[in-house]
Amino acid sequence: MGCIENKSTPAANGPGADFNAFEAMQPRPPEKTPMDRRNGKHVKANDIPPEGVYLPNNNFQAPHMVSPEYVQLSTAAAITLGIMGGRMHGCECTRCLNLLLTYPEGCRANCAYCGLARHREADRDYADRNFIRVDWPAVPMAEIVDIVAKDPEASDFHRMCISMITHPRSEDDTFTVLKQWTDKIDPEAIPVSILSNPTTMTRDDVQKTRDLGADIFTVALDAATPEVFDRTRGKGVQSPHKWSKYWEVLQDAKDIFGTEKFGAHIIVGMGETENEVLNLVQELVDMGGHSHMFCFFPEQGSLMDHLPATPRDQWRRVQLARYLIDYRGVRVDQMRFDDLGRVKDFGLPTGELDDVINEGVAFRTSGCPGKFRDDISACDRPYGDSPPSDIASYPFQPKKKDLKKIRRQLDIPVHVES
Ligand code: SF4
Repeated sequence: MGCIENKSTPAANGPGADFNAFEAMQPRPPEKTPMDRRNGKHVKANDIPPEGVYLPNNNFQAPHMVSPEYVQLSTAAAITLGIMGGRMHGCECTRCLNLLLTYPEGCRANCAYCGLARHREADRDYADRNFIRVDWPAVPMAEIVDIVAKDPEASDFHRMCISMITHPRSEDDTFTVLKQWTDKIDPEAIPVSILSNPTTMTRDDVQKTRDLGADIFTVALDAATPEVFDRTRGKGVQSPHKWSKYWEVLQDAKDIFGTEKFGAHIIVGMGETENEVLNLVQELVDMGGHSHMFCFFPEQGSLMDHLPATPRDQWRRVQLARYLIDYRGVRVDQMRFDDLGRVKDFGLPTGELDDVINEGVAFRTSGCPGKFRDDISACDRPYGDSPPSDIASYPFQPKKKDLKKIRRQLDIPVHVES
């Protein structure tokens, strides 16, 4: 069919490996947390009242901050909101206000790749933990709403997202935070997404987020197969999540929010094959939803911090193929894979594939859309899955030099027009 084929065939594991195979991606087991560090005990016992913005600093005792009065927000959102100084490589701002519920006892799950996981209470207060490579300052929710409500139409933010964590108060506090937002900010001006925690949610909870004005509902499946899920966020690491419950809530989201208004987060490179993750992408599209992709990065302090980041060639192949399935109508069964599950043919004629690569959008961060285009995510998560020196998800439109690098990583050495 005259398609571009990926020609490289290095070994599956070890030096020169061009993908993270299942056998190579075993998390280390969590250690026991001393009694006096469990459940945020010392933060609650010291009961230091919070004052305004709290910037993570592991040398201090974190104050006693609790949602819904307090939420954490990404460093990029704090810079964009003007409550923190700083610059981001290649970006003037972020387009998504990512919020995270906060409690001294933190998330009660123990996901192996996550900086917020429960085992970290042994050495770091919840409010001081890194998450997707960055710090998350804590801020009174009312202060955030007041800043954005001054002129929502003119805001840099194209979307707001509430990230739930695994905590008994997570649902009720999500409703309160959502209502606090929609009481003062028209969700038509800045739509809201929910990044859910299925483990403690019912179908009624999903419905309530819709009734309160949420626009998109996402499920952080994170793992692409039941085996990887169980190993990284279930029994394998003493964590409570179940693959079946995540799919149940995903189905609820499909029913309640409807086509194009639900999706799943997937981390690429935790031991699944490219064929497996792209079949999942196709399944989500066939349901009427989207996939939001993250490149595995060994988060400092996590149970997978000793493991390799996803090789860029694996990541680029999946990133490109996922974009073709999600936005260009290509089906996974039109693609060809080798016996290790790697993409060998993207299922498009050479010229068409060249055009998609050269446009660059396929390599931007994926997530819920903003106000530019349906296939350009508001949730740009600057450097959430890579350092700026070796970008995985581009939080900006890739330039010519970026596209040349991307083509080298894809092993598709076609001339980029100048
Ligand atoms: S449930 Fe979410 S926040 Fe909690 S440890 Fe797992 S990935 Fe991290």
